[in-house]
Amino acid sequence: MSAFKFERTRIAPTPSGFLHLGNVVSFVRTVGLAKEAGAKVLLRIDDMDRVRAEREYVQDIFDTLNFLELPWGEGPRDVEEFEREYSQVYRMGLYKEGLEMLRGKVFACECSRAQVLRDSQDGVYAGTCREKAISLDAEGVSWRLRTDDLGGSMKDFVVRKRDGFPAYQLTSVIDDLYYKVDFVVRGEDLLASTAAQRYLAGQMGRGVEFGKIGFYHHSLLMTEGGRKLSKSAGDTSIQYLRKEGLTKEEIYGRLAGLLGLGSARNWEELYNQLYE
Ligand SMILES: [Zn+2]
Repeated sequence: MSAFKFERTRIAPTPSGFLHLGNVVSFVRTVGLAKEAGAKVLLRIDDMDRVRAEREYVQDIFDTLNFLELPWGEGPRDVEEFEREYSQVYRMGLYKEGLEMLRGKVFACECSRAQVLRDSQDGVYAGTCREKAISLDAEGVSWRLRTDDLGGSMKDFVVRKRDGFPAYQLTSVIDDLYYKVDFVVRGEDLLASTAAQRYLAGQMGRGVEFGKIGFYHHSLLMTEGGRKLSKSAGDTSIQYLRKEGLTKEEIYGRLAGLLGLGSARNWEELYNQLYE
């Protein structure tokens, strides 16, 4: 039995690339923990990144979940339903409300991505525009949250992008609250992101509510060379493996091998070994 008690979790893939083996392990953990807790699984697709979100990748999410028979009970069943009812576009009003709550806590930043990298030792924002007092309503500026209590890679993270659209951390917090998610399963590479989201929720006056969400950070699936699997690793995408002729059973089998486990033919068999 799982030690976790919760009512609703989510799988939240970003449609900016094809789903890969690493995503699948995270989904298996999520649906398994939900089943043990008797909780619901929501499919939440983040498509606010209008540049990178492509319909092809949204389709890939449904294709992959269906092919691997990973169950979800809430959220869209296909691309059409997603676009008709669930796209983040429909929650723009909520995101704007959240952003308005942050006036006075954010500063406008005019740095390009290249500028941020030039000013920085380690890829972390160097605070270049902190004291410039640029108008929040100026053209083409991003909004950065002042994070004096939050160091590391998330220092002064962006909550509104230069194109005026809300950034990932903000939409993620608001969506999880909106859908009443009370448990989040994610890789340990997102620990800093979780801290940032808790801080952000507090700054929007929703810290108590967000504080009730449980977070479970799991270890990441590595390649044989010890690198983290990423979306750029094309030969681990499920789409690629399917084109190579692998069956559902063979994909779960390959995952079990990568994880150093015995054999597995479906998500339940893989899950049971992950938590043995
Ligand atoms: Zn700046």
